[in-house]
Amino acid sequence: MSKAPLTLYLAAPRGFCAGVDRAIKIVEMAIEKWGAPVYVRHEIVHNKFVVDGLRDKGAVFVEELSECPDDRPVIFSAHGVPKSVPNAAQARNMVFVDATCPLVSKVHIEAQRHSDAGLQMIMIGHEGHPETVGTMGQLPEGEVLLVETPQDVAKVQVRDPLKLAYVTQTTLSVDDTADIVAALNARFPAIVGPHKEDICYATTNRQEAVKAMAPKCDAMLVVGAPNSSNSKRLVEVGARAGCSYAQLVQRADDIDWRALDGIKSIGITAGASAPEVLINEVIDAFKSRYAVTEELIETAIENVEFKVPRVLRVPA
Ligand code: SF4
Repeated sequence: MSKAPLTLYLAAPRGFCAGVDRAIKIVEMAIEKWGAPVYVRHEIVHNKFVVDGLRDKGAVFVEELSECPDDRPVIFSAHGVPKSVPNAAQARNMVFVDATCPLVSKVHIEAQRHSDAGLQMIMIGHEGHPETVGTMGQLPEGEVLLVETPQDVAKVQVRDPLKLAYVTQTTLSVDDTADIVAALNARFPAIVGPHKEDICYATTNRQEAVKAMAPKCDAMLVVGAPNSSNSKRLVEVGARAGCSYAQLVQRADDIDWRALDGIKSIGITAGASAPEVLINEVIDAFKSRYAVTEELIETAIENVEFKVPRVLRVPA
């Protein structure tokens, strides 16, 4: 039987960002430098395939520093950690490497700077996400107020409406965040915001590519993990941009072929922590069932690269 034709739109940019790339390199280089096991506090990036691969090489993933022995190196994940974590590692004389994405560290510095200038901080983010916990944890407990929606802005109780600043999680929906920022500006006209968006280039670029791709597709798949904030946002952006079926899949096995019955086009993208090998696996699954014509929807070219920390660039 001949295969049905299918146009496969591939979003670009998609998949790994510079912060994820750097974090994975940090774990690999740490194992090379110090030998296994190297401990990693929290999933280095939110992707099971990546985590399993690093575990095979000698990484041990834990949720808390208290689970790490004093005499093995520990790495902090790309999402960032509250200040109390490196402080505790220092107090125990541990060797630690911070794999926090430099773009998250920039937000940490911003929060500290505003607080030092006497401004109360508001964070736009998702409660419980490790990046939000890490950024809020740059200041003493209770100092940073969290808002997740414009409705939260209406309810938030501040010390002085004239002395306020806000920061955001880096992986939010650009459009939802604009609504929350508009609500903050309307209620607190004196509030100070970042010079340039805290939402990072990778999140912004992946959402832009999806906006361009989604209206063309009968269905859209985002390769990514269920706990990956930027991947989940891509699903929402795709649905909002006009694609009636937008789903998150971790890999090809998750594709619901019955739901895709009769489609003529599919859009594929991937969150910033999803490796290209899983994207190719999904593409190959379509090629095995359909006569695929590939089309790239490219809305930006990325050439961002972050250096690994110095301690890993010098020999042991
Ligand atoms: S998604 Fe953005 S903030 Fe997060 S690791 Fe990648 S570049 Fe850094």
